[in-house]
Amino acid sequence: MKPRLRKAWHLLRRRVSGRADRPLRLAVAKERWPNGARSPVVLMIDDLTNAWHGPRSEGRWLPGGDWGGGHADSAGAVAFLERELLREFPEVRTTFFVVAGAISAYTHHQPFGSARPLDADEASRAFFTALSQDVRYELAYHGYNHGSAAATTEQFLQEWRGFESVAAAVAQTRRGLEIFHRATGRTPSGGKYGGWDYNQFAGDAVSECGFRWWCRDWMPRDVSGQIDPEYYEPQVFGANRVIALPSTVHGHFWDPRQIATLLKHRQIISIEEHIAPLRPDGLVQTPNIVDDIQELRRLYRHLRGLPVWHATCGDIAAYVAVRESTLLHDVDADGFSLRYDGSEPAPALTLRIDATALDDGHAAGVVVTAPDGVEVQSDPAAAAGRRGCFLVTVPVVSGRYRVRSSPATRHRRQ
Ligand SMILES: [Zn+2]
Repeated sequence: MKPRLRKAWHLLRRRVSGRADRPLRLAVAKERWPNGARSPVVLMIDDLTNAWHGPRSEGRWLPGGDWGGGHADSAGAVAFLERELLREFPEVRTTFFVVAGAISAYTHHQPFGSARPLDADEASRAFFTALSQDVRYELAYHGYNHGSAAATTEQFLQEWRGFESVAAAVAQTRRGLEIFHRATGRTPSGGKYGGWDYNQFAGDAVSECGFRWWCRDWMPRDVSGQIDPEYYEPQVFGANRVIALPSTVHGHFWDPRQIATLLKHRQIISIEEHIAPLRPDGLVQTPNIVDDIQELRRLYRHLRGLPVWHATCGDIAAYVAVRESTLLHDVDADGFSLRYDGSEPAPALTLRIDATALDDGHAAGVVVTAPDGVEVQSDPAAAAGRRGCFLVTVPVVSGRYRVRSSPATRHRRQ
């Protein structure tokens, strides 16, 4: 084609496709996860409690027999985790699922060497309080006793399967939460059903007890494409809109294809583990952090350099709750509005703002002024994907936000 013809074609195509020279207003979107992360990652460790297994007469656990009752002892389960995983990978965030009262044995005739409530004595309270205040950890709720012992392991009745009414579940859970609070000074924001087992009363009881999030089902991420990706998204249940978090990755049998699929769909990488291998009924608890430590190191090495957000279940659920409770509306050339009807304390949300409308894509960043006057600058390190496009994490308040471009010099330090 001759140059003049080519130019005419270009102009015509633009006219018929209705393409504007530049956007007339901002384009603003809620980011799926904070600061440009593709997926959150959480290590979920079940069954931490004030118990150990070993000969009661010797007053000490067998190797692999500490379930948390060894407290901070260097031969205990938490010291193992810190020495064998967290020393090399300080970015790991762990949510422990904690049994508050004395954990039940599986069978009547095979008791734990020691099984006591979290608040049994000063040493136990100090240990669990320290864990709950450690930024690497979150303590979540995993039952009052985990269930009821039986004649055989197969007959063990999981706690949330056994409640005969919502009221019975609420009453026992409140007792567990009181123990938890006496031991740590805190109330857990979420939890998990013991043994992934529950009945028709469980969901309403979880909601009524005030939990903000919960793990209901074990659902390792499918990589065959046969299950709809939507299946692995967080769900909402109960009158209080509890966030149900999926559990997607096995700490031992994880597969790089699962990680790739979760990242592709921006879904949660939640790694399932148990605190101890040794059970009083002679079986090995699978998965467990002791037997799986090499796989966990491989997994966290694999995650290094990938755009993930290491967070606890509570952090992840809080972000989902804020994201889903925030309506973005009235986007114009220099601002937008948010309406928030959630109940998270200090809600914050990452927004992707295409600010081309402000100064033709030449801005080095944006400054957002919240309705309460707080100013936030876009994150120069977080890749928003395109020139003129920025990520900014704003405090969420109902009302009008103003956006202006920020001078280039303010980013030079980066
Ligand atoms: Zn459990």
